[in-house]
Amino acid sequence: MIIATDMPEVSRCAASQCAYNSNDACHARAITIGDGADPDCDTFFTNSRHTNSSRTAGVGACKMEDCKFNDDFECSADSIQVGLRGKSQHCQSYTH
Ligand code: SF4
Ligand code: SF4
Repeated sequence: MIIATDMPEVSRCAASQCAYNSNDACHARAITIGDGADPDCDTFFTNSRHTNSSRTAGVGACKMEDCKFNDDFECSADSIQVGLRGKSQHCQSYTH
């Protein structure tokens, strides 16, 4: 069974080394934001092969309960962008 879910769009991601990234966009089905105490992409991983998918990713889950857009461990923003901060892939829409 395929589950249809409305998710905020990941409109841009600068982590070009991630296996889900091509052309500054995320093509995972859904990502999870929140890595420990940081609003980083927890779906990030590197691989020599990158996805062939052209779909636009959604935010499936977010652990950052202290973000103003977080509602019951989910993101309620219209869309988010993921950028680089040091070595991490950071939700730029995170608002404490
Ligand atoms: S949002 Fe996360 S999973 Fe998607 S390309 Fe960026 S780092 Fe990778
Ligand atoms: S905007 Fe806030 S709630 Fe949405 S993914 Fe980013 S940190 Fe999580």
